Amino acid sequence: MATKLPIVETFQSIQGEGAHAGRSAFFIRLASCKVGCSWCDTKESWSSQNYPLQTVDNLAKDTVIAKKQGASFLVITGGEPLHHDLTSLCEAIRNSTLSINKEHMPIHIETSGVDQLSGSPDWLTVSPKKHFPPKKEILKVCQEIKVVIHTKDDLQFAEEIAKIAMAQKETTSHQPLLFLQPGWGDKEGKNLTIEYIIRNSQWRLSLQTHKWLEID
Ligand code: SF4
Repeated sequence: MATKLPIVETFQSIQGEGAHAGRSAFFIRLASCKVGCSWCDTKESWSSQNYPLQTVDNLAKDTVIAKKQGASFLVITGGEPLHHDLTSLCEAIRNSTLSINKEHMPIHIETSGVDQLSGSPDWLTVSPKKHFPPKKEILKVCQEIKVVIHTKDDLQFAEEIAKIAMAQKETTSHQPLLFLQPGWGDKEGKNLTIEYIIRNSQWRLSLQTHKWLEID
């Protein structure tokens, strides 16, 4: 279990995307990603070399401060956060934040789904990538699937992923929310997304509202 992790940044802001968009959150952005998306807007996080290791205890203390300052939940993002074993980090955060209101801070993880799950998050968002598909196991347990749309092929990929996730419905009561998110600044992606959601009611629109608002 990792007791120190390479951290790009921590900050308190508003969740911009998905089902929890618009809510106050504390973010921990971990370094390292081998998924290599061409449109990635956090390429600086791909290598962990440039970032200091921080202890899970210090990250838990920062999360306690954020909770006292009004953050509703924690988002662990990246990079690809599940390249790391998040068990120790999530345990430390649960234990530390329990002291406030006797409820631990809900932990959300945002992942591409290419690794094994760790940390037992309260909310798991899988943003699958066509060139590096997610593990089927992780699709079984996520609360939210969010697919970035640039081309028609992305829509087909989104349906394939949804089919895999929904196939679990007969064996569990779990059914993830389905989001399509147009690629930032991509007119074709925007038009495809809107037209598709209008005709396919199981999908919802996710926008990167933090980018529209020009905040982190
Ligand atoms: S998985 Fe995320 S962090 Fe990694 S390359 Fe793709 S968009 Fe960037």
